This record gives sequence, structure tokens and C-alpha cells, in this order.
Amino acid sequence: MTNTTGKCTAILLAAILMIACSAMPTQQSEPQAVPATAEPTAESIPQEEPADRLPAGFLLGMDVSSVVAEENSGVTYYNFDGEQQDLLQTLAENGINTIRVRVWNDPFDAEGRGFGGGNNDVATAIAIGKRATQFGMRLLVDFHYSDFWADPGKQKAPRAWEGMSVGEKAEAVYAFTKESLEAMRAAGIDVGMVQIGNETNGALCGETEWSRILPLMRAGSRAVREAYPDALVAVHFTNPEQGGAYAAYAKTLAAYDLDYDVFGSSYYPYWHGTLENLSAVLSEVAETYGKQVMVLETAYPFTDEDTDFFANTVGEGNFSVEGQAALVRSVIETIAYRTTNGIGVCYWEGAWITVGQSSRAENSALWETYGSGWASSCAAVYDPEDAGRYYGGSAVDNQAMFDADGRPLESLRVWNLACSEE
Ligand code: CA
Repeated sequence: MTNTTGKCTAILLAAILMIACSAMPTQQSEPQAVPATAEPTAESIPQEEPADRLPAGFLLGMDVSSVVAEENSGVTYYNFDGEQQDLLQTLAENGINTIRVRVWNDPFDAEGRGFGGGNNDVATAIAIGKRATQFGMRLLVDFHYSDFWADPGKQKAPRAWEGMSVGEKAEAVYAFTKESLEAMRAAGIDVGMVQIGNETNGALCGETEWSRILPLMRAGSRAVREAYPDALVAVHFTNPEQGGAYAAYAKTLAAYDLDYDVFGSSYYPYWHGTLENLSAVLSEVAETYGKQVMVLETAYPFTDEDTDFFANTVGEGNFSVEGQAALVRSVIETIAYRTTNGIGVCYWEGAWITVGQSSRAENSALWETYGSGWASSCAAVYDPEDAGRYYGGSAVDNQAMFDADGRPLESLRVWNLACSEE
């Protein structure tokens, strides 16, 4: 990343300058073909017409799962005119066409106290989804099939499903998925894609053998097809940098005849290798199995400063607002122009900013009460070794596209720069 940051910064600044000086984008034209192995250079990025090159319908997403907890904690968000405005409206105005939201089955303890991380149950997803629909954006539903965070390190079954056989668990996955989506449909929400698991690198819902994972995925897929026939079914993996892993996952899914549309990946550039590798491993899946592919999560810091008194995941580096925008633009261009069947890019938690600027103690009270930190102390009943010990605030406030006051960074303009014409 460090070798290309300066070059990308210059490209971004040029692009921002052009959008500021230009009127509406010109008529849609075909994406310019570039060699599959090309580095993103000034020559390979279509600077003359920066705003109209993406394929129509290209998904430009942002996960804002924490937004309700943030607002309940007193956070306000602004638009580029300095006016207080619904965060989702600001995102829509800036080119975001899809809002992603995670869903946990039951992120509350016996007394109804939230585990934190946004307390993202189905009701929260519906509240966010209705706002996304109101502002003309689609919803990407990310089922974790867990009561709290699911990732390669944890894929714990919901407490209510503990002790179930695989067959019983599959029925539970089906019922939960279908009921959740039917509630979203009843609320008038425009669901465009549904993930049947989150970063499921060989584990899901407490199961760690593919012969036991696949029945659960098949049950989730079947429920999506029935509840939202027009929605895409997505699987989600991470660590694209691990040689051969994605090819192996896709081969396993095919062997078990899983019905899905999109093979999605996380891509955090400080962990997950080069964009060239990402493009190669996703293209291989797309070409071998005829699937669509996308980046379901990406993010990048704009600063090394922490503003909420809870240490950030990525705390040290030569970061800038321009560098953040350049990273997003590079990921979009990689998926759109250099990846077979690349359909979109979704940013992760782009508005998870500090809930206060006075002290850790004041923030901690808000995290505990409203679930606006990554975990509350109440999560100990479900995840004692991690959340129960290290609970606290946002570890990604320096990767948001809003500053500590809730004002959009200039980098937020990158989505409109890449925006397609309808
Ligand atoms: Ca922080």
C-alpha cells in the first residue's frame, strides 16, 4: 500500500477536482478494458469521464449496522452543507446504493441488556432497512446465525440452538431466515442481497465440518429464495491472501450443490494481500462456477488517531483522508474492471464514530447502555473469553468516512465519483 499511496492520492485529487468542475456525468459508455494484470495507474483509470464508467447496477454499499446505537448514544451526523441530516440520506446523496446490516439472533442477556456492537437483532435491521428504502437504497442482510460476532475465529451457535442436531439446526436456520425476511418484506424493505453467514471460513453456527455446514447454508438459501425471490444469495469468506483457499471453498460449495449467486470476500488491505491477488482468486471462482463476486467488506484508516478512548484495530500508519479515498477507488476499480463478474464493493462500518469526546468513563456509560461499542460487559454471558474481557468502544473510528463530530470526510465523495448512470 505504501508504494502506491502517493500515486493514488494524486489520482484522487485530480478526480475530485474534475467532479467539482464538471456538470452531470455524460451518457453511459462501456467500461474501458484494461489488462488483467495491470497496476492501477493514472493511465488505466479513466480520468476524462470519472463519474460514469461503472456498469449499471454496480453495488456501492456501506455497512452502518451501528447507526441506531450511535444515535441513541447522542451521535449526530451532518451533510456536506454542514446541516444535521439523516446519515442514510447523506449516504444516498453521495452515491451509496446499498446499505448492509448484520443480524444476530438474540444479542441480549436474560435481563434484556444488549451485548453491544449495535445490538443488531432483526428489529434493528428492520429499523435501518426502512430508512435505506426511504432514501432509495437496497438492503444487504448479513445473517451471522449467532447471538454475537461471527468471524473466522468464532462461529458460535445462538444459545437457543445449542444442543441441536444438524438437521434441527438446519430447520432453525430456515425458520429464522424466513421469518426475519418476511418481517422485512412486511415492513416494505427492498432487500437486494442476503448473506447466509459471515466470514464462514470452514465454520458456521458451531459446526466445523463442511458436511455439517452445508445443510445449514442450504437451509438459509432456500429461505431466501422463498421470502425474497428477487434477492441474490451470497456466501462470505475472508483471507483471500491464503493461497488456494477460495478455490477450495467454491469447490466444496459446488460439490454440495449449494444454490447461491454471489461469492463475496472481505478485503482489508492491511491484512489481505494485494488487489491483484484479490482479483485473481475471485475471478477464478467466477469463471469456474459461473458466480458473481464482490467485496462485502473493506475499510481503511484516514488517521492514526483514536477519538473514543478505545484503541483502534489499525492504529499506526501514514494515513490520510486522501489515502482512504484512494483505497476505496482502487477496490472499486479492481472489482469493476479487473475481476470477472465483479458486481460491487461494500464499505464496513463507515460511520462508527466516537459517542463522546470527554472521557473513556463517559463513553463507556453510553456503550454499556446503548450498545454503541463493539461489546458491552453483558456479552460475557455468551462470549466470556473475548467480549467479556475486552469489551469497550469502536475499534474502527479512524476508518469511518465521518469525523469525530459526525461531519463527512472529503473521502465520502469517492462513491459519487465512481457512480454509474441508471
Ligand atoms: Ca477507537
